[in-house]
Amino acid sequence: MSDEPVHILGAGLSGLAAATYLAKAGREVHVHEIRSDSGARFDGDFQGIENWTSSESDFFDEMREWGLDPDEFKSDDFDIIDLIHPDDEITNPITDGVAFRVVERGTDSHCIDQGFKRMAMAAGATIHYGTRRSPEDCHIVAAGPKESSAVAFGEIFHTDHPNHVSFQLNDKLAPGAYSYLIIIDGIGLICTCLWRKQKRTSRYLNETIAWYEQHYDLNRRPIKRVGGKGDFSLPDKYVYEGRYYVGEAGGLQDFMWGFGMRYAVTSGVLAAKAVLGECHYEKEIRKRLVPLVRASAINRFLMNRVGDRGFKLVANHWMKDQRRKGDGLAFMRWLYSPGPLRLMLWPLVRFGMLRRKQLKDGRMVRRMPFRNSLSRDSWEPSPKAEEIAAEWESIRKGGGSVSFIEGDA
Ligand SMILES: Cc1cc2nc3c(=O)[nH]c(=O)nc-3n(C[C@H](O)[C@H](O)[C@H](O)COP(=O)(O)OP(=O)(O)OC[C@H]3O[C@@H](n4cnc5c(N)ncnc54)[C@H](O)[C@@H]3O)c2cc1C
Repeated sequence: MSDEPVHILGAGLSGLAAATYLAKAGREVHVHEIRSDSGARFDGDFQGIENWTSSESDFFDEMREWGLDPDEFKSDDFDIIDLIHPDDEITNPITDGVAFRVVERGTDSHCIDQGFKRMAMAAGATIHYGTRRSPEDCHIVAAGPKESSAVAFGEIFHTDHPNHVSFQLNDKLAPGAYSYLIIIDGIGLICTCLWRKQKRTSRYLNETIAWYEQHYDLNRRPIKRVGGKGDFSLPDKYVYEGRYYVGEAGGLQDFMWGFGMRYAVTSGVLAAKAVLGECHYEKEIRKRLVPLVRASAINRFLMNRVGDRGFKLVANHWMKDQRRKGDGLAFMRWLYSPGPLRLMLWPLVRFGMLRRKQLKDGRMVRRMPFRNSLSRDSWEPSPKAEEIAAEWESIRKGGGSVSFIEGDA
């Protein structure tokens, strides 16, 4: 590519990472964003940037090497979590370094999205908000998810509880997935992820909140409810008709837990490097990210086959591994290593879990469809969950905002 201006579709993390790298290299960069601001896809929810998919480097050091400054946004390091087993036992995976960092997504100035926006603008990129541009007229497509393979719903609230993260494996509260509690500086988020399609989705969130209320001293005062979707697919090609597909638009996301921020930033930088002739995007993505995405898809395939009994085995194995190796993060790293058993399972996963599909832009992908619900997903809400539903209903009527459609997923 000559020195012509570079056009990027989407001012999320992947698009802005690419824009910053390119603008710092002296290129004219235009980012086209359909929403009115970066982070507007999200609504003040907390997300975790994982630090386990590369054993060699801390992700923030990697960002600094790429010229991205992690001090541009607020983040909180964690080395320990409460791991909640399906039978309500709570154990503590712990590591010596940083296991993950919690950031806020949204349009407030301390949010990661706004930090990336500032970096891109300071580097000289022009961001056009509230605009439509065809992907065909862009060099880098960073437009996030299109369809749903899974959804997550959460409630944000005031709390007196100190900073904390809990991660719960529970097939009833979070069908096929997990729920979590994150508390940062007096603001809490309780979220449940549904990896199976459900009717009346808010009952899962109400029941999950009821569970956390009973096990933690939260003094919860609800603010708003938030939610979003994840689109999981493996495309045949990451460069299509000369365009680089990055972040979630390129299916670069963890199929097992839904982590995508690190993949988004990494792929954005790699696409920028490719535009500058510093690397071969398709080769780099296949070398660095695709093995991780594949390992996560295999793990997801296995998770889809188990319920709480399988989740309990996973939680026990995690803690046994920590006792043996003295590091809770070793288990997470192992989950993403392409061992012989995982490699053997890959053909089964490809044909058993993923569906071949042609996207509107012509790209062929193997998508993970949103799975149907199971008979065990149907249960009556507890009295505490009914109370929480009624409490939220009155807050909603009084103007409490919901950034997703409650009802059927
Ligand atoms: C509820 C929820 C919780 C999550 N939790 C975590 C977590 O804890 N850790 C983690 O790592 N990941 C998490 N993820 C995933 C993570 O948010 C994404 O993988 C990541 O944001 C993807 O970055 P991206 O740049 O590809 O997309 P985004 O950051 O979403 O950016 C895409 C941008 O493109 C814009 N856009 C869309 N269509 C167009 C168009 N036609 N034209 C112009 N612009 C367009 C969008 O408005 C958006 O601004 C979560 C996702 C959800 C939904």
